[in-house]
Amino acid sequence: MTEAFVQQLGHDPVGVWAAPGRVNLIGEHTDYNDGFVMPFALAEQVVVAAAPREDGRWGVRSLNRRQTVTFGPQDLVPGRVEGWAAYVAGVVWALAEAGHTVQGADLVLTSDVPVGAGLSSSAALECAVLTALVDLSGLEVAPLDRARIARRCENAYVGAPTGLLDQAASTLCEADNALFLDCRSADHRQVPLDLSSVGLELLVLDTKTPHSHVTSEYGDRRRTCDEAAKILGVAALRDVSLDDLDDALSRLPDDVMRRRVRHVVTEDARVLEAVEVADDGRLADLAPLLDASHTSMRDDFEITVPTVDLAVETARAAGAHGARMTGGGFGGCIIALVPVGSADEVGRAVAAAFDEAGYGAPAWFLGVPSAGARRLV
Ligand code: ADP
Ligand code: MG
Repeated sequence: MTEAFVQQLGHDPVGVWAAPGRVNLIGEHTDYNDGFVMPFALAEQVVVAAAPREDGRWGVRSLNRRQTVTFGPQDLVPGRVEGWAAYVAGVVWALAEAGHTVQGADLVLTSDVPVGAGLSSSAALECAVLTALVDLSGLEVAPLDRARIARRCENAYVGAPTGLLDQAASTLCEADNALFLDCRSADHRQVPLDLSSVGLELLVLDTKTPHSHVTSEYGDRRRTCDEAAKILGVAALRDVSLDDLDDALSRLPDDVMRRRVRHVVTEDARVLEAVEVADDGRLADLAPLLDASHTSMRDDFEITVPTVDLAVETARAAGAHGARMTGGGFGGCIIALVPVGSADEVGRAVAAAFDEAGYGAPAWFLGVPSAGARRLV
C-alpha cells in the first residue's frame, strides 16, 4: 500500500490503517429489535494508506475501482458525493457532525472483502477510513463512538438503514474472539472463539446469489417487528423473553407476525446460549445453535432463498456439524462449522451441488476471527 500510495501521489504516506469485514456467527435480524448479536471480524479487510493534504480537501483512490474521487468541505452534505466515495465523504461528514475537525488528506485504499456478499465491505471501508482520519487529525474518539460515527455515515450519508452490528464488529473485534453486543445498551465484550483448539474451523461460503428485493423485504420485516412490539406493549421484541413467548404469540393477530416474532425471540435466546457455550469453551456445541438459527430464518422469518438452503443442506451432508445463512438474507453467505482441514472438501461438495442444480459457482474461504480496525504502519 505504501508503494501504491507513492505511485499515486509521488510521496510517502504517513501511515497505513486497516479495518475488517465480518461474519455474524449468530443473531440475525435481532439488532433492530434491540437484541443480541455475535459477530467476529474476518482476516479480509480494507487497507488504506494516507497522508495529510494542505488544501483542506480529501482525495481517495480505490485500487479495486481504479478510480480517484476528490471532494471538499462544501461536499459534506448527504447526497453530494455519490457512489462508493459516499462511504468516504460520509465518514468525514459524520466526524464533523460529531464535532471533530478533520484534516484534509489523500487516501489510497484496497480491499479483499467480497463486495455485496453480506460480509460488510461497506463497514470495513468506513471504519478503515475513519481510523486513518482520526489518527491523521490527532482526534480522540472512543472505540464505540467510532462505530457509531461510521454507522451514522452509512445511515444518513449513504442512506442505508442498518443497525450498529457491522461497524461495531469492524471496530471492536479482537483476534481469536467473537464480539457479544447488546444492541440496546451497546454493552459489549469479547468471547473466546479459538475453534482450532477443539478441532474445528469455520467455512464461509458465498453463494453469489444476486440479491433481489432485499431493501423492501428488510423494510417489511422491520415494520412487522415494530407492529408486533406495539401490540405486545413492549419497547422492542427484545423485551419478550423465551418464557413469555407462548403467551405473546397468543396475543398476535396473524400467523405471519407470530412466526416473525418467534424467530426474533428464539434467535436472541440462541445468541445468549452461544455466548455461554463459547465462554465454557464448548465450541462444538455451537453447531446445533447454528442449525436451529437457520431453520428459524428459513421457516419463521422467511429470509433464505433456495441457493442458501441448498448450500446449508449440502454442507451438513458433507460433514459440517452445523451451518446457517449469515447476514440479512435473500442470498449472501453461509457459515459452516466443520472439522479442521475439511473446509475445502465441504466447499467443493456445495460447488458440485450448485453445478447440478444449475446455479453459478460459489466461492469460499476460512473465517478466521481477526483483529478490528487498527493502524498497521
Ligand atoms: P456489503 O457491505 O455487504 O459488502 P454493501 O452494499 O453494504 O455490501 O456495500 C458495498 C459497497 O461498498 C460497494 O457497492 C461500494 O460502494 C463500497 N465498497 C466496498 N468496498 C469497496 C472498495 N474496495 N472500493 C470502493 N468501494 C467499495
Ligand atoms: Mg454493507
